[in-house]
Amino acid sequence: MRRSTIRHRLFLPLQCVALVLLSLSLGFCLWHKLWFCSLLLVSVILLFILQLVHQQRKSEEALKRLIDAIRFSDYSLSFRPGSPTPNPTLTQALEQALEQFRSKMYVLEAQHIYYETLLGTIDSGLLVFHRNGRIEWYNKTVLQELGIKNIRELSDLKIVHPSLPSLLGELTPGITRIFRMEKAGRIQEIALNLVIFHIQGKELLLVSLKNIHSVLENKEIEAWQKLIRVLTHEIMNSLAPIISLSETLAERINESSPKNQLPPMTVQALQAIHRRSKGLLDFVQNYRKLTRIPAPQFSMIAIKDLFAEIQKLHFASDIRYHFSCPDDSLQILADRSQIEQVLLNLIRNAEEACTEIPEPAIHLSACMLAETKQIAITVEDNGPGIVPEALDKIFVPFFTTKPGGSGIGLSLCKQIMTLHKGNIAVRSHPGQGSCFTLLF
Ligand code: ADP
Repeated sequence: MRRSTIRHRLFLPLQCVALVLLSLSLGFCLWHKLWFCSLLLVSVILLFILQLVHQQRKSEEALKRLIDAIRFSDYSLSFRPGSPTPNPTLTQALEQALEQFRSKMYVLEAQHIYYETLLGTIDSGLLVFHRNGRIEWYNKTVLQELGIKNIRELSDLKIVHPSLPSLLGELTPGITRIFRMEKAGRIQEIALNLVIFHIQGKELLLVSLKNIHSVLENKEIEAWQKLIRVLTHEIMNSLAPIISLSETLAERINESSPKNQLPPMTVQALQAIHRRSKGLLDFVQNYRKLTRIPAPQFSMIAIKDLFAEIQKLHFASDIRYHFSCPDDSLQILADRSQIEQVLLNLIRNAEEACTEIPEPAIHLSACMLAETKQIAITVEDNGPGIVPEALDKIFVPFFTTKPGGSGIGLSLCKQIMTLHKGNIAVRSHPGQGSCFTLLF
């Protein structure tokens, strides 16, 4: 036990004994009418009482400071036992209580920071809100996925899409809903799941937001490739004998039988079968390209060199071409010939889109995006643009709006970009041209 505590413990009984003795002496003095002594004793007794009241007030103040410290989470408060104080026992107890409170709060705070960091770094968005639409908490991923800066109420999500707040409010636990939105010119699919939980009697709704766009895209590509592989295999198996038989028959007819003995229709029909089947074979082989993109051979490519190479190739004399790469040091890690192929496809599409307009222009540019540090290459034209109904479909294999089109170009571009772990996006409005962006 500290010396000050022992002193304090002895001090209190001594004070009481002294008070009793003083009261007895006062009684004695009054009895013998010793007025001066009585006055002196009364003063001393009053001083004692004042001292006791002062001590009591100090203890109350210390208690109040402790309660305030707990209330306002102020860990800097100290009741140092060494400091001069009227009640060291109480001070020591308060210091111990405060120390325990402080260490518990530090543990809780460390846990809070740990979970906050953990939840902030996972790639799913988490959003907690009340039934009345007030948002309780969300992690950074929510803002990133939805492309917004700050939210307080569910209704603030109307800027992402007018129907998003009501969609979140209507979610049912265990049932996944897909929310489709446009972000930077790309359609994104976000899977939404709801969990309801209760804390301190309050009902809270936790929604997880998971961007499944790239998963869906990869699945879609896989499905197309499987379908194309099966179809082309079957068609080619059937076509091969038709081509060779029609060829042999045509040759035999030419060699052995005088032409005039055969009805001309038979000869023409045989030739037509042969020609059409060969045409069909070329057509199918063209589609096979979609399933046979070789793995990219990556190397660092300076964008300015890439642009210089492409500039050498062209171009249509009636179109104004413009290449801009403000930063000569911009580089991408890519397969040079595959990326050239992508850019040529986009330029060819842009040229075809511009044929009917008075001052056709195609603009290729490159830059680094400030937010994500991704390199973006854009191919922009001032053609007729793409109608909204077609925007969703242009990357689907075989989708074309051109009479002689194959619908393979953009699908090929997309697959090449996927192999580069990048992406291709389009922004277009009817009558205002189109802008395709490659993101690396
Ligand atoms: P194809 O050129 O054989 O039609 P693509 O896959 O290259 O196949 O293009 C698919 C469709 O996308 C085109 O038919 C066209 O409707 C649309 N498209 C592509 N690029 C442009 C563009 N720059 N301007 C307008 N429409 C475009």
